[in-house]
Amino acid sequence: MRIDLHSHSTRSDGKESPSEVFEHAAAAGVDILALTDHDTITGWSEAAEAASRLGMGFVPGIEVTTVAKVGEGRRISVHLLAYLPNPNHEALHTVLGETKVSREARGRAIVDRLATELPITWQMVMDHLEDGATIGRPAIADTLVTMGVVENRSAAFSYYLDSKGPFYVSNDTVEVLEAIELIKLAGGVPVIAHPLTGVNSQTRRQDLPLAHFEQMIEAGLSGFEVYHRDVPEEARTWLLELAGRHDLIITGSSDYHGVHGKPNRLGENVTAPEMLERIIELGTGTPALL
Ligand code: AMP
Ligand code: ZN
Ligand code: FE
Ligand code: FE
Repeated sequence: MRIDLHSHSTRSDGKESPSEVFEHAAAAGVDILALTDHDTITGWSEAAEAASRLGMGFVPGIEVTTVAKVGEGRRISVHLLAYLPNPNHEALHTVLGETKVSREARGRAIVDRLATELPITWQMVMDHLEDGATIGRPAIADTLVTMGVVENRSAAFSYYLDSKGPFYVSNDTVEVLEAIELIKLAGGVPVIAHPLTGVNSQTRRQDLPLAHFEQMIEAGLSGFEVYHRDVPEEARTWLLELAGRHDLIITGSSDYHGVHGKPNRLGENVTAPEMLERIIELGTGTPALL
């Protein structure tokens, strides 16, 4: 049984429609797939239809953009996978709507900075996005590719869209502890996506103290996505130990963004069936279609 619990479609920053993502997953031998577009649930219905047509299982999810305050004035971006939340829960719906709006303002701000050096406009970025899709840096990357400024998305991220680079603007979004509580209130299961990635390996321990993780666990965090290509080996050991101590769920996933979106391939990391069973037991907001 191959279970992959993290993928993206054109409803956010993936390069393929929900149906195409499921078709590729079936071809890759994935039996159960979660669609987890950034801050949106608009892909769920198409995903459910595609899964049923292909004889696959579908786990509805969202990758919620949140921010954590660690130490004095330091803010880091935390992606929270929310499995099986009620999409009609009012407060969750409101927060996702606000994030989508602020992502647009932030995208425009990044483009304004890039426009000091390149002939890029916001309209060019919009031309690379489906109507209603969640806006992220990948749409700007695609624009830079079309303009011939860079070869592919990865090349755009290595300078123009680098979070340490001169053009970067961060997302203004919900605080992580608040998001964890909200996802739980909506009947969802919050799991940290690719934990301890974007953090410098030398300073990782000082950077993200145990206290930060314990606060998230205290707030109701259900698990860690330990098996993800961006989670370093050293971090995996640390996370597995912490998860063991708190009896948390461990998942593994691809974080697929399409064949031409990112190198991540469907099914390259998988989740154990008993871990998915625990998610299904905890998730009361919407059913998994298995
Ligand atoms: P944003 O949500 O706007 O901050 O953009 C982050 C998204 O960009 C994530 O979902 C990543 O999957 C994607 N991303 C980050 N780095 C790269 C890269 N090197 N190549 C392609 N996509 C990337
Ligand atoms: Zn993404
Ligand atoms: Fe992410
Ligand atoms: Fe993702």
